[in-house]
Amino acid sequence: KGGYKMKVWFVGAGPGDPELLTLKAKALLEKAECCIYAGSLVNPVILDCLPESCEKYDSAGMDLPEIIAVMEKCRDRGVDVIRLHTGEPAIYGAIGEQMRELDRIGIEYAVVPGISSFQAAAASLQVELTSPEVSQTVILTRCAGRTPVPETQQLDKLAEAQATLCLFLSVGKLAEVCADLAQHYGEDCPAALVYHASWADEKKICGTLATLPELASGIERTAMIIVGRALNPPGCSSKLYASEFTHGYRKGTK
Ligand code: SAH
Repeated sequence: KGGYKMKVWFVGAGPGDPELLTLKAKALLEKAECCIYAGSLVNPVILDCLPESCEKYDSAGMDLPEIIAVMEKCRDRGVDVIRLHTGEPAIYGAIGEQMRELDRIGIEYAVVPGISSFQAAAASLQVELTSPEVSQTVILTRCAGRTPVPETQQLDKLAEAQATLCLFLSVGKLAEVCADLAQHYGEDCPAALVYHASWADEKKICGTLATLPELASGIERTAMIIVGRALNPPGCSSKLYASEFTHGYRKGTK
């Protein structure tokens, strides 16, 4: 492969359903020779697109220098690397720090966008996030965890806009989030949570800021929280979906 200028492809894997991969992502996966994937989030079904001969690395157990070292080794062999991120790589994908390292060592890269989990959650809930006259703004944000959120972007500041809020990485603080938001949006404001949107084991729960924490009490990870008055569709009644869901207090029908 002498002289071939390899590239790192930051590829969006989409939310989970392999049919929600872009054609470009699928084609890249199908001829991949080396793939570093975010194993804690990427649906394993997506990895079935990789050829058997493809070298696979789960980045869940790797730090940045280890990830970059794999990329450098592939550069030496003239082999492209697929860096597979869940959803849309530009959103909480930590691609920025990888791109800066690649700039430093002179490895080229390209980004292939993906469908984000907030989109899959909206599809599952069958809602229009920008409902006319209700909300014309969608805010993608998260609660502070080990990664802090800048002071000017704290939830209660964002809440002032009364926009439709999509919260990533925040289900662990659901009760706190709902209580904070209720002060701005009102306790009766619709709030929904979708676990594993577009996966075979997807669960969706609809309620209000007052009821959601209890309705969703069994769910601890990989969920999207959507809050706002735009979420008031006929297909999203809390009773309907709550009945499918087993939580701490009740066995559901599903
Ligand atoms: N780049 C991803 C987000 C990565 S951060 C994207 O665009 O979707 C990880 C967070 O995304 C999770 O904590 C969860 O809030 C959300 N998430 C990822 N996949 C999801 C899915 N299939 N369903 C619901 N939420 C998901």
